[in-house]
Amino acid sequence: MFHQVAHGQRIVIKIGSSLLVDHETGLIRREWLTSLLNEIIFYWQQGKEMIIVSSGAIALGRRHLQLGDRAALTLPQKQAAAAVGQIKLAHAYQEALYAQGITVAQVLLTLDDSQNAERFANAKNTLKTLLELQAIPVINENDTVATAEIRFGDNDRLAACVAHMIEADTLVLLSDIDGFYTANPQVDQTAVLIREVRELTPEMMAMAGDSATEYGSGGMITKLAAAKMAMESGCRMVIAAGKHMSPLRRIDTSEDNTWFIPGRAF
Ligand code: GLU
Repeated sequence: MFHQVAHGQRIVIKIGSSLLVDHETGLIRREWLTSLLNEIIFYWQQGKEMIIVSSGAIALGRRHLQLGDRAALTLPQKQAAAAVGQIKLAHAYQEALYAQGITVAQVLLTLDDSQNAERFANAKNTLKTLLELQAIPVINENDTVATAEIRFGDNDRLAACVAHMIEADTLVLLSDIDGFYTANPQVDQTAVLIREVRELTPEMMAMAGDSATEYGSGGMITKLAAAKMAMESGCRMVIAAGKHMSPLRRIDTSEDNTWFIPGRAF
């Protein structure tokens, strides 16, 4: 029997910008988001603790501010876009979850919150209290105040840091790629999907190449860095394609994902 999200109890779901934001319109893909949130609500109703790490603030805000969808932005432009986009993002989650009677809580973190012991403990206590109060935290980086030198920069590592912080047992990275391949499958037809990783080797890090997507900032290298952090804290992680409807069920009914399993048997 293969690994399943359904076996988790405290589950962090990371949603990438390219899944959440429609490339053509620059708007939230509402139908898709509803289908994912229905799955999250289903697990929450079973008593599982669910935490969302959502990207998309910059992608949403830059369209609204007409900053173009391709041009490189300056740091202040990115931060302005994030300020506009984050409120749209929070509103979308609030609207969808509140309609089901679920309290949603916005938490914006910076790299400092993971590196400074006092701030780490503080963020951890807040998140754990929210979970005890049965809220679903929706987390993003505090992009409007984090500058280039002090940024996580991508939500893959932020999500792994959150998983470590709250001692999650499962981290799901929903992405536009279905897993970790021996080479970049977009350019190399001999690339093979690796279904399970129990130890991250230097060879694997080399295989990851540099495959950042147009919309999100996280490529395979950042996903492996997230896997390393998750595994070290005893949390299993899966990289899976998220663009289909009901992506969590798809993970549990397909073997075409990559699971990273920590030493501790799960
Ligand atoms: N925090 C950024 C945002 O919400 C994106 C990070 C990422 O690309 O993962 O727009």
